[in-house]
Amino acid sequence: MIVPRLIERKRDGGRINPAEWHELIRAYTTGDVPDYQMSALLMAIFFKGLDGEEMYALTDAMLTSGDVLDLSHIATPRLDKHSTGGVGDKVSLVIAPLIASLGVAVPMMSGRGLGHTGGTLDKLESIPGFKTDLSLDRARKQIEEIGCALIGQTGEIAPADRKLYALRDTSATVEAVPLIAASIMSKKLAEGLTGLVLDIKRGSGSFITDEKSEIALARAMIDLGARRNVPVVALFTAMDRPLGCACGNSLEVIESIDALRGNGPHDLIRVTFALGAEMLYLANKVQKPADAWPLMRNAIDSGQALAKFGEIIEAQGGDRRVIDDTSMLPIASTRGDYLAPRAGYVARVSPRIVGHGIIALGGGRRTMDDHIDPSVGFVITAKPGDYVEKGERVATIHARDDKHLAAGRAALAEAIEIDDSPLPPLDLISHRMSTRGRDKWKGPGDKAAAVADIDYEDSEIILPPPA
Ligand code: URA
Repeated sequence: MIVPRLIERKRDGGRINPAEWHELIRAYTTGDVPDYQMSALLMAIFFKGLDGEEMYALTDAMLTSGDVLDLSHIATPRLDKHSTGGVGDKVSLVIAPLIASLGVAVPMMSGRGLGHTGGTLDKLESIPGFKTDLSLDRARKQIEEIGCALIGQTGEIAPADRKLYALRDTSATVEAVPLIAASIMSKKLAEGLTGLVLDIKRGSGSFITDEKSEIALARAMIDLGARRNVPVVALFTAMDRPLGCACGNSLEVIESIDALRGNGPHDLIRVTFALGAEMLYLANKVQKPADAWPLMRNAIDSGQALAKFGEIIEAQGGDRRVIDDTSMLPIASTRGDYLAPRAGYVARVSPRIVGHGIIALGGGRRTMDDHIDPSVGFVITAKPGDYVEKGERVATIHARDDKHLAAGRAALAEAIEIDDSPLPPLDLISHRMSTRGRDKWKGPGDKAAAVADIDYEDSEIILPPPA
């Protein structure tokens, strides 16, 4: 394999074949291909894309660069949910125990927050004693015993992706749909899943902000799953405002516990149930997603979902008493209300500005090495479309001290826009997509007819037609 020839070929719009991908990724992982060559290739991919076979070969090469969580001996269906990331997105904390409490194994591997988006691992680690760095062996045992493990990407899983992701981060090649799809799916497929549900975030706070790329990303991941017989369903959900009210690590754990008690904010519950319904549907627990809603309601009302969260916390070294006493979680020393500066409609709550506000409070990361304060953040109770009076409390700021409180106040003043008329927010859940196509989502269950409304030829990445 002569790497400059591969770079040249991709630069000129050609293809790299599966054997070449495997050799290239193996050599890159062992250090035999230098970063400067790989970054040139990444940039060529950024501009020229990958076809379906190339993307699959790259995913497979990254997946097989490490170990996988072999759960094939478990008869229980194994489902996970992956979100493309957002602000206030604590769905994983609610959905994992909820779905595990209904007899589905949930091997969930999550990431840390970076930039304006939060990360599930950081949220979980605000629970005293909670460990996310489990070995694959330990995660496997925990899944066998209690049906769920909430872990980070270990060094054992997809090491090629870990190395490539760091390189993409420093070579301006993160935002390429085929690279994102291959990166995410190489890790998800390593979880030994029988099905995967994707939460594709839409709007100004999401990672990808144009509709064509959102669709292309969902389609790429659905196709990668199909090629390995792992059915993947994607829901497109709003990230033009934070999800729920709490934004910040410990505050989000508190809101998740409230949700598992049946007191969660409406939008958080609705998105969680819509995604959970798809998980239960792919797990063959119900005939159609709509049938899963009463099952989930019952799991919450009966306390079994919250009890499952307690089991997971205990199994991972945490203090399970937090589910009954959230004052055990880190709590910021300084609090202040943010009041509406004028009367009118909440026109916008910018998730991106809120996310950067959390960083200003010390609760988020600018670089992977940053230390975070789990206690700080915002609880924003006003939603786009609400009418508020001047001086009404629309949010609470949780900060380390008065200086940070002022920084939080400044962030909210920029993030929350109040106007004379309401602006229509995005649909909370807009579409559902599977190998059959993309349909308008019609809640509470998915009653949409499976009529494709996208032009597959129009996609930037070329894939075979859906099965
Ligand atoms: N998350 C990943 O794991 N990989 C990407 O490329 C982007 C988001």
